Amino acid sequence: LGLALSLAACGEDDSNGSGSDTGGDGGDVQGKIGVILPDTESSVRWESADRPAIQAACDEAGVECDIQNAEGDAERMTQIADTMIGDGVTVLAIVNLDSASGAAIQEKAASAGVATIDYDRLTLGGSAEYYVSFDNVKVGELQGQGLADCLGDKPANIVYLNGSPTDNNATLFAEGAHSVLDPMTQYKVVGEQAVPDWDNEEAAVIFEQLYTAAGGKVDGVLAANDGLGGAAISILEGKGQAGKVPVTGQDATVEGLQNILAGTQCMTVYKSATQEANALAEVAIALATGGEAETTGTTADSESGREVPSILLEPQSITAENVGDVIADGGQTYEDVCAGEY
Ligand code: BGC
Repeated sequence: LGLALSLAACGEDDSNGSGSDTGGDGGDVQGKIGVILPDTESSVRWESADRPAIQAACDEAGVECDIQNAEGDAERMTQIADTMIGDGVTVLAIVNLDSASGAAIQEKAASAGVATIDYDRLTLGGSAEYYVSFDNVKVGELQGQGLADCLGDKPANIVYLNGSPTDNNATLFAEGAHSVLDPMTQYKVVGEQAVPDWDNEEAAVIFEQLYTAAGGKVDGVLAANDGLGGAAISILEGKGQAGKVPVTGQDATVEGLQNILAGTQCMTVYKSATQEANALAEVAIALATGGEAETTGTTADSESGREVPSILLEPQSITAENVGDVIADGGQTYEDVCAGEY
């Protein structure tokens, strides 16, 4: 079964999705833009998708960007930010590791006259001029609906593996998923836990505990991203349940897409890094040039109540039927996804 679907998605090599190398059209933005990514482990997306997409967006706009990674260490992010501010960046974008450290960085930047942007994660209590992300409640809704579609109408026990409690997005994903699944009374939540720092190894341990606590009666797993989903799948494999228990995900990583093609993962959520990076570049350039960026609305900071001008993009649900969409959009290459035994 998995094989037939696999062949459908991997059988025709006309991907050609790379999309963007139109080359810079000679921008003349003064000053440098600093971007600090959070880590390399909570998701492969930051280095494999975001960094190249942000670099491409900067090159295309003709603006100099300094992209660094805090390697999961909030102190390190603070140091990188200090150095960037000292170096005279005009705009600083961060993917915070937690709201408190993010807000402190933004406060320092502001007092040095540096504008800030929240990239992907909203810093609660922060002071960023703009927030660039996806509609993250919608991401959770797509996960909830995807799991329901895989489970069908029969009664089912669901375990939730949520993202890091320090990540505001994780709150929004869980909120979205619950809003879809809770009213479906044939489903019962038999376990739910947040995974600190989105740590995949810890996720496997947590999932195994929840699975055991539920007496092995787990019919579906709402995992907040592909890494957490992969952790659940690895445990299910050991119990002969992989492929029988649908698992969700997010990020349309190579691993997630391959798991979907292999039939062990039910769905993932694709969020185009190119779109998000382009929105970031647009907003950064507006800030650097004293212009205004076009926003899709505002997002309420649940801590301060501040309405943060935002660009929120549309996430897309991916199942075995439309894995090819990710490739066609340039989100992954055919070679990477279809490498292996598909
Ligand atoms: C991002 C997800 C990512 C997760 C772990 C979230 O804030 O929105 O795409 O999987 O962090 O890095």
